[in-house]
Amino acid sequence: MVGSVLIKNGIIISQDRERRVFRGDVLVENGTITEVGNVQGGADQTIDAHGAPVMPGLINTHAHVAMTVMKGMADDLPFPKFLDRVFAIDSDRTDDDLLAGSRLGCTEMLLGGTTTFVDLYYSQDIIAKAVKEVGMRGVLCWAVLDQQFTTQTGVPLENCKAFHSRFSGDPNVVPGIGLQGVYVCSEETFMRSREFSDSSGALMTFHLSETRKEVYEHKEKTGMRPAEWLSSIGFLNHRCLAAHSAWLTINEVRALAKAQASISSCPVSNMKLATGGVAPIPEMLREGVNVTVGTDGSTTNNSLDMFAEMKTLALLQKSSRWDPTVVTAQQALDFATINAAKAIGMEGELGSIEPGKRADIVIMDHASPGLRPLTLENAVSNLVFSSCRRDVRTVLSNGQVVVENGRSTRLDIDEVIEEGQKAMSQIALKRK
Ligand SMILES: [Zn+2]
Repeated sequence: MVGSVLIKNGIIISQDRERRVFRGDVLVENGTITEVGNVQGGADQTIDAHGAPVMPGLINTHAHVAMTVMKGMADDLPFPKFLDRVFAIDSDRTDDDLLAGSRLGCTEMLLGGTTTFVDLYYSQDIIAKAVKEVGMRGVLCWAVLDQQFTTQTGVPLENCKAFHSRFSGDPNVVPGIGLQGVYVCSEETFMRSREFSDSSGALMTFHLSETRKEVYEHKEKTGMRPAEWLSSIGFLNHRCLAAHSAWLTINEVRALAKAQASISSCPVSNMKLATGGVAPIPEMLREGVNVTVGTDGSTTNNSLDMFAEMKTLALLQKSSRWDPTVVTAQQALDFATINAAKAIGMEGELGSIEPGKRADIVIMDHASPGLRPLTLENAVSNLVFSSCRRDVRTVLSNGQVVVENGRSTRLDIDEVIEEGQKAMSQIALKRK
């Protein structure tokens, strides 16, 4: 454990209120950023950024990390067939392959500059183990759905509560509630979850209006569209993080804004599954919805790459609106940092490089041609539109250097890869 770290000579992408970008240093002491600017004096460890961008760790607001070892197993299928195949594999997984997938996915994210992610899955204890080993932060939301649809042992919400009590106060794990979606969660399931969230402060994340079919079926059943219905039962509030949110009307956007809810747009997943909807992000921003970005899982993306996701999100919005002015590079970076921190209720601790915040920091590679030429004026644009995750050189999580020169300081990458290979071949073998 290193007590203090001094990052010298960076272009600081502060993501503070004024979105200042400037040349300077960052001092980290006991996990917290204590000084930003021209720092005098030394520290236990000094890192020279050589003029490269130094930015807040990226926050992926929608993932299913344990599915990493299912990569490429359900590609190019019509959506119902895709679901059948994924559910069949998912319901028959072992603790070992869940752990191997989580280790691989967490390592993939951290090496690519993602220091925090929101996950929706069952068996979050196993994912928590991987999160702690890798040394990142997981907002791990236990999958909650109606009893008749689950393969979990016991009652999903009770399992979620038990997980919460095991991990509340953990430095790496933030336990949350992961509602699967309106198609498998009744009003009672939503409102019981809401009661638990009210008493515990836990985040509630859920899939919302990902497909047109989901919207039509819900309307047939209840007379209302999903977000309209969630609003009418009194479920929505500021602890809600709605993934996808692709098929929304303007009234639903307004309901989300009024409730101060957040959304996680997953453009690559939506395009790969060809679910057709494009999240109405310009309207969300206009109405005041807090917009963030997520990769979704490795069967629908198939990478957990937040640089690719930021760029794709901006491009999809510009292209579908025939308007290059919508979703600027700065806004895309906001979605992946400060907005995401707000969505998970941690805007006081994460999402920007400012004194008092936790030190989740990414230092880019000064020698990457993709990032050059680099100036204070084009730095944010270069991060979103020109660079890729391989341009990440060093990562700090909670003030600890967890990636150094592109390598994990915690896990043996060869072992992580070998375990992942083994897990995938065992899954494939069972499917034969
Ligand atoms: Zn998902």
